[in-house]
Amino acid sequence: MSARAGIVVTGTEVLTGRVSDRNGPWLAERLRELGVDIAYTTIVGDRPEDMHAALRFMADRGMDVILTSGGLGPTADDLTAEVVGRFQARPMELDEALERRIAEILRPLAKRWPNLDMDAMRAGNRKQATIPLGSTVLAPVGTAPGLIVPPLEPGGGPTVVVLPGPPRELQPMWGAAVQTDALRSALVGATVYEQRTLRLFGIPESEIAETLRVAERAGIELGKLEITTCLKRGEVEVVTRYEPAAREVYEAFARVVGGRHADTLFSEDGSTVDEQVAASLRKAGWKIATAESCTGGLLACRLTEPAGASDYVNGGIVAYDNEVKISQAGVARELIERHGAVSAEVAEALAEGARLRLGADVGVGITGVAGPGGGSEDKPVGLVWLSVGIAGRDPLTHSVNLPGARADVRDRATTVAMHLVRRALGER
Ligand code: ATP
Ligand code: MG
Repeated sequence: MSARAGIVVTGTEVLTGRVSDRNGPWLAERLRELGVDIAYTTIVGDRPEDMHAALRFMADRGMDVILTSGGLGPTADDLTAEVVGRFQARPMELDEALERRIAEILRPLAKRWPNLDMDAMRAGNRKQATIPLGSTVLAPVGTAPGLIVPPLEPGGGPTVVVLPGPPRELQPMWGAAVQTDALRSALVGATVYEQRTLRLFGIPESEIAETLRVAERAGIELGKLEITTCLKRGEVEVVTRYEPAAREVYEAFARVVGGRHADTLFSEDGSTVDEQVAASLRKAGWKIATAESCTGGLLACRLTEPAGASDYVNGGIVAYDNEVKISQAGVARELIERHGAVSAEVAEALAEGARLRLGADVGVGITGVAGPGGGSEDKPVGLVWLSVGIAGRDPLTHSVNLPGARADVRDRATTVAMHLVRRALGER
């Protein structure tokens, strides 16, 4: 049996959606790596009774560990330490060494802001150093210390790990928390799970559901695998978690997927298409360039996301207006007049223009109708033509009809382009 954990994300700004939660998903992934079974994430506002109720809910369902994020600051609305103390029935006590430590952190700050209200600062400092008796203190990354607050009696309930709200403070502090005896002892007996990811492109999710039934009928013990499939940016992601002893069951399952979906399975090791394209370009020693119309530079943006992309990306042209397609990407005016801006011919000319004008080995052209207006019967909203050109080879040119609103069409077009580049580079 693996240890079970819940996460309580606090903060009215997160609850109301002004800030989107980056701590819950991040912590969930870290717990998973440790083999801890994450059962619930709850978001509550800065109200002590709601926070307390969330802790109660998770404790009642047998969580071994509860992680909280947020509400550790110096102000009166930062209440987490107090609520957790009350929840664990531990009295609050001023930790004087901690108070001095926080004062040291605040000293340079006080110098920078000469008009600061020193009394208020001292009060905040004292508040942050007042912690449940018997807690393990995690050194502040900002000014707030984290806390590990065990149950009053060993085995008498969950251990609560109290972490600050700002992700840049929470993340390093979690690293320190897992090193402590206080947290380790709460997680003993956690089974380490393995997790593998398969990615497919150009296949509806329902096909995978059918493949699961086929695997089941073939006698593969799917009960030993925890399989989740999800649709992400136009790709199907199949994530499987299993105990190490079930590895052969997984291998058998992966073989069934590979057999049924040989043409759409592009990643068996979890690598993304972006990573595969980057690796192929590096391996070939090639540079890529883009000329984009309907995606307005989104593909160039995506290609340049990884650090070090300058090793294989030359640049991109945003050829939105037809005159720019002609003057900057070198598309012949008559091509546009004869075939229209959204056409195989113009996509190919854009790819060639990008490659030649930006001195690259690989050129990508994208032109389409992103909508909501501008569609016609033979060129409906969502129609996108894409082309990848490599010197001395026939261009790889392809059209798709993408569903969804403007933002979806534009984003999905970059995914299709990535896969076209991957194919052109001979990956599959
Ligand atoms: P501080 O000392 O900064 O007040 P805190 O531990 O009290 O730290 P909060 O007051 O809850 O943390 O949050 C401070 C800020 O951190 C928020 O305004 C928000 O910008 C960011 N933050 C908090 N929680 C999250 C979260 N779950 N996801 C992303 N950002 C968050
Ligand atoms: Mg705060």
